[in-house]
Amino acid sequence: MPLLQRRNYRLRTIAAVLCSTALAAQTPSVLERIASRITANDLKAGVSFLASDALEGRGTPSRGLDIAAEYIAAEFRRAGLEPAGDDGYFQTAPFAMVTPNLEGLELTLETGGQNIKADQAAMALQEPRAADVTHAAAVKADLGALDALTEDQLKGKVLIVEVPNASGFSPEQRRDLFMRLARVPPLASKLGAALVIQLRAAGQPTNTNARLREASSAAVPALAVWDSAVGGALVAAKAGPLEATVSAHIEAPAAAPVKLRNVIGVLRGSDPALKNTCVVVTAHYDHLGVRGTGEGDHIFNGANDDASGTASVIEIAAALAALAERPKRSIVFVALFGEELGLVGSRYYAQHPVFPLLDTVADINLEQVGRTDDSEGPRVRQFNLTGFDYSNIATIFGKAGEETGIRAVKDEKKSDSYFGASDNAAFALAGIPSTTISVTYMFPDYHKVGDEWPKLDFDNMARVDCAVALGVLRMADSAESPQWNRDNPKTATYVQARDATGAKPR
Ligand SMILES: [Zn+2]
Repeated sequence: MPLLQRRNYRLRTIAAVLCSTALAAQTPSVLERIASRITANDLKAGVSFLASDALEGRGTPSRGLDIAAEYIAAEFRRAGLEPAGDDGYFQTAPFAMVTPNLEGLELTLETGGQNIKADQAAMALQEPRAADVTHAAAVKADLGALDALTEDQLKGKVLIVEVPNASGFSPEQRRDLFMRLARVPPLASKLGAALVIQLRAAGQPTNTNARLREASSAAVPALAVWDSAVGGALVAAKAGPLEATVSAHIEAPAAAPVKLRNVIGVLRGSDPALKNTCVVVTAHYDHLGVRGTGEGDHIFNGANDDASGTASVIEIAAALAALAERPKRSIVFVALFGEELGLVGSRYYAQHPVFPLLDTVADINLEQVGRTDDSEGPRVRQFNLTGFDYSNIATIFGKAGEETGIRAVKDEKKSDSYFGASDNAAFALAGIPSTTISVTYMFPDYHKVGDEWPKLDFDNMARVDCAVALGVLRMADSAESPQWNRDNPKTATYVQARDATGAKPR
């Protein structure tokens, strides 16, 4: 992108605003100032660079992702945001790319005087870590009752859980199951278990690919097993200590260090007390990278998903930073890595927040805000919020939308089911009232190589971002922080997490 040209454009825009102001002989309102700064052309510039083939689809990890991070940091620098990472604007996340090693993998169940050896082809490493277990006692537990387990029950033992067949599950139920399963190895590690065995029905998905793992994470090795003999001996058993022991051998996986980065800039608040609290504005800057081989296009550009959100974060930050007055609360702008791999960057942030979670009043996440051609019909001059009834956030953006001539709407089918599908979920699970703002949920090129920047409606995007900027500013200027809707049973987990931070409900 020609930066010089862009700066000239901006100067011309400012000049135009100043001229019209002089003619009108009055100070432009905050909304007018924001609207003059967030332009379709600047958004197009940002998205076209982030989604260019040169960045190769911004896979996590990749050189394209690193270049995108540098670009975002440069834009935060231009806007005058305070760097809030450990390395300037970068929050460094030490990860490892871990490749399971199936060589010499063995599992034997000793029960009723019999040794049942699992077929190696009926096992996969869910959490690949080295293990050598000999005649260890086995404990079976319900996946829904893991929190009741104690160190006494589990130390040095093998934890066995049955994984329900997810083939008939909704996407929401699948995600829920995925989250539950991901919690098992760290929990088992905390309680001193030696190994986790997930009993699965044959044909269920297991992850055998190389995967990212936080370098310092502690967890117990977890083995997915669908061997019929082992399953037959264990499925009928009730939860509790089993009349069985387990022996197993797992080789250490190959692990290559990977440095991943969230990009974080802060617009510092001005109110002596409220400036120590913040509103977080997020978007993920990664996408699916390059996939497949052979003839044709293999670059997943991710223009709408989510270069659109990333460019929006940049322009909203620049517009709010350019206002004469600082907001009362601080506003933290975060571009996140690894969303497409399962909210990896946002979960990392939630574990290593720049502001304490207690002082973080909301996360406003932006996803797919560029295209208006939703698979179910056009979406112009409107935006959706996930978890529309989960908190009072939608009300705040509804009012901001009214002022900017655009509607905040609830998608009756997807408002709730998509709440857990993007980075706002990691913040919600940490207790922070959150939402994802989108223009489309499903669009024709979703997760395809054709998600390219010329297909975005940048005029509409500028209008949406203007409403988002105004809503964020209102939130940052209000002494009242957004609250979960405690009457909605779907918020129970998030409310519990919020209360655990010590936040006082109003
Ligand atoms: Zn996305």
